[in-house]
Amino acid sequence: MDFKYVISQFLGIQAVIIEDIKLFRRDLRVVVVARQNRKHCYCNKCGLQFDQVKEWVLKKIKAPALGVFQDVVIKLYQMRGFCSECEQTSVAELSWIHPRFTSYTCGFVEWTGRMMEETTCEAVGRLTGTSSKELWAMDQWRMGHLLQFMELPTKLDLTNLCADEVHFLTRRHRKRRYMTDKRWQPEFVTNLVCPSAGKVLFNAIGRTEEALDNCLLKLTPEQRREVQFACVDLHDAFISSFSKNCPNAQICVDRFHLVQKINGAFDQVRREEFKTARRTKDHFAEEMLRPHRRFVLVSREKNLSKSEVHLLDRLRTLNTNIHTGMLLVEQFHAALDTKNLKTFRRQLIDWYQLVRQSKLLPFLKLAKTIRSYRAEIEAFISSRLTTAVAEGINNKIKVLKRMGYGYTNPKSFMLKILQRCGYLNHYSICTDQLFFKV
Ligand SMILES: [Zn+2]
Repeated sequence: MDFKYVISQFLGIQAVIIEDIKLFRRDLRVVVVARQNRKHCYCNKCGLQFDQVKEWVLKKIKAPALGVFQDVVIKLYQMRGFCSECEQTSVAELSWIHPRFTSYTCGFVEWTGRMMEETTCEAVGRLTGTSSKELWAMDQWRMGHLLQFMELPTKLDLTNLCADEVHFLTRRHRKRRYMTDKRWQPEFVTNLVCPSAGKVLFNAIGRTEEALDNCLLKLTPEQRREVQFACVDLHDAFISSFSKNCPNAQICVDRFHLVQKINGAFDQVRREEFKTARRTKDHFAEEMLRPHRRFVLVSREKNLSKSEVHLLDRLRTLNTNIHTGMLLVEQFHAALDTKNLKTFRRQLIDWYQLVRQSKLLPFLKLAKTIRSYRAEIEAFISSRLTTAVAEGINNKIKVLKRMGYGYTNPKSFMLKILQRCGYLNHYSICTDQLFFKV
């Protein structure tokens, strides 16, 4: 096989004649001198072969690394030809030069693009000796380009779906009128997650009903009918969107968020008692009820050390409100642990009664919320579904956000989420041809 032909194949370039290859061992640099093949030079307008060569234009084009030689530059003599049919001169185009980033080959853009699926533009910039700004623009272009080819795998199991929001950024409130208005406004991105695949299917800006509608409507009506269980947090917008768009879906509330709510209610009780202890100079109770101990109070007994259990027992005998609060938390955990719907209902009724007798305001409030979400909680008891996968993905997204030192552009953030945690990458879309031409 011809050596120069092999090199041109390695670089992913066609329709050129390689005239020279210079290797610089000291700085691992390769300069490939190439001239456009006259036989493959066509007029842009009519597509016929050029009659005459007007001039050879010298261009420097960056190409992917050749083995250990990291910095590969193609010195290309591109032809400007004269077409007698159109009576004008034009540059003969080459398909392997990237149409948008003209000083890079398609192979280079795809190679760095695949690296940027895994790591930051800065890191890829250091590895390839390219400016990170240019790489960022390439990545944006590539994600936008791949978005039109993105599709869900055919064998995707859509019986369970989760929706969860992730924090995007907090903006200063622009139209603030009154002193009491909020100064900062958090913005969110809603992700539609398929737990069985562990991937984000679609996402949209905001955490409103429309945001989730936008995600769900990208599924076909058949796919939406497939959904049996939809797992959400205690957020009415998501619940109504799922019940509107997925007719067969049973909506269940996540256990994690329920526990969070009940811990919040308990924390309010703790705060009140802490204040009283301070006022009455009850040093033992004050020390036990300090904010940093709040998780010790609600954690389950098996996770505590012996001395902690001992101290807690002492506190419980001294303070009835804390004691009832802890009992209520324990009871609720026990109710959520049951797998039988009938037992759960009975335990919940008992729990309601206990709450009423306790006369603790935060718990009374919580009981009201729980009553209004009863159908969703019962769906959780029978399906045992949680948004655990979605929360795990949220964690991954948070890492991604920190790696880029935060994102300001919502579109780029959403595309990046789909790329890292979804189907917008070369593992799901075949991008092999993008090495040669766009
Ligand atoms: Zn022509």
